[in-house]
Amino acid sequence: MTRVLVLNCGSSSLKYRLFEGDAAVVASGIVERIGEDEPGAPRDHAEALSTAMAGLPLEGLTAVGHRVVHGGLTFTAPAVVDDAVLAAIAELVPLAPLHNPANLAGIEVARALLPGVPQVAVFDTAFHRTLSPAASTYAIDAATAERYGIHRYGFHGTSHAIVSRRTAALLGRPLAEVNTVTLHLGNGASACAVEGGRSVATSMGLSPLEGLVMGTRSGDLDPAIIFHLHRVAGLPLGEIDDLLNRRSGLAGLAGVNDMRTLLARRASGDGAAALAFEVYCRRIRSYVGAYYAQLGRLDAITFTAGVGENAPAVRAAALAGLDRLGIVVDPVRNDAPDRGARVISPPDAPVAVCVVPTDEEWEIARQTLGVVAP
Ligand code: AMP
Repeated sequence: MTRVLVLNCGSSSLKYRLFEGDAAVVASGIVERIGEDEPGAPRDHAEALSTAMAGLPLEGLTAVGHRVVHGGLTFTAPAVVDDAVLAAIAELVPLAPLHNPANLAGIEVARALLPGVPQVAVFDTAFHRTLSPAASTYAIDAATAERYGIHRYGFHGTSHAIVSRRTAALLGRPLAEVNTVTLHLGNGASACAVEGGRSVATSMGLSPLEGLVMGTRSGDLDPAIIFHLHRVAGLPLGEIDDLLNRRSGLAGLAGVNDMRTLLARRASGDGAAALAFEVYCRRIRSYVGAYYAQLGRLDAITFTAGVGENAPAVRAAALAGLDRLGIVVDPVRNDAPDRGARVISPPDAPVAVCVVPTDEEWEIARQTLGVVAP
């Protein structure tokens, strides 16, 4: 019987899930407020993980799978952790200054606490390494881009991978024959064009800031806005970084980053909430159109993550008016309170619109086993 512990370490939180056999979840939880100066808060990741592990049945553990946000161009697949892999993840810290250090801390602590158990790094970026040069190259001076690693890396890869695979299964068709646009709409949000199981375009780029409108991130904007804020408004670069990452998106437009609150405010006539909703859905529609054009043939559009799985109003508004493209949302199916993987377009629609729950932890466990016990 295999047993895999999946760890997702953020800067101040640690999420864990223990899987046994094919899919059974034996235990899961989250430790928060790591390193915060409060009574009872864990001092560091080591203390957080020791506390979490104390209650877990870890005998006979097959492996530990770690979510690592940035694998750069180095990692195209999950990697069994050794000193060279750790050094390569550390080298990528400038590209993911908030995420990779926390991911590294998690790996180092797990290595120390579980000697002899294989540790596997599973990268958010790896699924997108199938992007063609034309899809991953920014149109800036080539030598500068090369020197500083300016490249479309893409994120949410484990989610886009599992959701596109499950979409093909839901439709009862071989993965290799299905072209899908997957829409991961959570606190972070990204779109991905998946051609026969391979990522061919994705909306997040060098960092998870680009693309769709998110809870607190702006997504796409004119880069000149940054120069303007710096030159004309006199904002220091660090403040602009904070503005675009933490005080923009739904939070910037309507003062709330939680879609549930936003929908409730919109329903009660709040104009700012209504505008934020329109901006959010319009951006999704633009990406659907763009990726349809890139794919040439589109079989499915799949919504996933917190908003995608639970907000019928967003799904309906994002795809409104696309019937000439064969994209139709059936209102009864869309509003049904179902939870599992399901189709929400009419039965004869040319493009299947689907809702498929994501499960990044399970996918990390599956990929981890794929390298340690193939
Ligand atoms: P995630 O990052 O996948 O956990 O997604 C978080 C986002 O999902 C937040 O913006 C939540 O407001 C949103 N969300 C969760 N449940 C619902 C719901 N029932 N209706 C609308 N949005 C939801």
